[in-house]
Amino acid sequence: MAGQSNYWSDHVADLAPYTPGEQPRVDGLLKLNTNEHPYAPSPRALEAIRAAAGDGLRLYPDYDSVALRQAVAALHGVDPAQVFPGNGSDEVLAHIFDGLFRKAGRPLLMPDISYSFYKTYCRLYRIECELIPLAEDFSVRASDYASHGGQPAGIVFANPNAPTGMEMTQADIELILRAHPGVPVVVDEAYVDFGARSAVPLMARYPNLVVVHTLSKSRALAGLRVGYALGSVELVEGLRRIKDSFNSYPLDRLAQAGAVAAIEDREHFEQGCRAVIQAREELSLSLAAMGFEVLPSRANFVFARHPGRDAAQLAAALREQRILVRHFKTPRIEQFLRISVGTPEDCERLCSVLAGILTAG
Ligand code: PMP
Repeated sequence: MAGQSNYWSDHVADLAPYTPGEQPRVDGLLKLNTNEHPYAPSPRALEAIRAAAGDGLRLYPDYDSVALRQAVAALHGVDPAQVFPGNGSDEVLAHIFDGLFRKAGRPLLMPDISYSFYKTYCRLYRIECELIPLAEDFSVRASDYASHGGQPAGIVFANPNAPTGMEMTQADIELILRAHPGVPVVVDEAYVDFGARSAVPLMARYPNLVVVHTLSKSRALAGLRVGYALGSVELVEGLRRIKDSFNSYPLDRLAQAGAVAAIEDREHFEQGCRAVIQAREELSLSLAAMGFEVLPSRANFVFARHPGRDAAQLAAALREQRILVRHFKTPRIEQFLRISVGTPEDCERLCSVLAGILTAG
């Protein structure tokens, strides 16, 4: 591809884009590979989207997503000026990396095994990053961040972490926040609603804390693309400057309407989370009974390895039987499979197919 380098800048040539999980273009596959919710979104959200899909689409949407920011603020007990919404939390994270983490000569700290988009954004925005290895048991060791000398540009981690699903304690998060006042600490809580504890209450005491949420997982709206950051008014103001300078589009009318209704339908949300948590616990037990080592998950997926069985081969064998799970080639975790929690029927099908593969040898 030598010819292309005449057109691309060196920067573009150096980019190694994020590889998303497969989104199949054929029907009939059991999709347990990208951590979507197994049940439908709130009927109230669908109704609000239908209502918004009328003549109003002629008009540009509310640039400031005021109704959405109010709904999010009410949900979390913060001020609407502390809410920064975006087209999925990926876009919110992009603005965070761009706006908060670019500090010359100072590294961004993050776990070596975490959401792989973080590394992609570092390359995109030319942010120096320092990868802190996970502990032996795959947990994030807070003391490694707290004792880090010098002033980092920022710290980012997912809690629960992805793809391990493991949760950090509140005390550990506080340890990091206390050790680095004045440094933005970003906690990506994409999976927090499946039984983990949110760091949002810590925002009142730590103005350097930014928490990122998405409606893609626990509110079953991955297709709508809505996420948001919560932080101090000052930090959110910084993010708004970045977004406005970039002239990135606001959330569209359908997304704003659907997101508000989904956030307000707490009962549907809680019921869905409870069902996923229960299915996760049952799936973890079933996998363990088949000889898998399953990391303790607080997310809507499990991360598991089978001693003596190659994970890439297991994933390929499942694919042949029309079940998609996620396998990463990342060192240290290449023998793990990440399996999204489906309905009890999905999980049963997965386990019976897996049992068949294991006995076939
Ligand atoms: N953070 C983490 C840890 C994730 O796993 C994902 C989904 N892959 C995201 C953020 C992005 O989610 P979305 O853009 O759908 O809000």
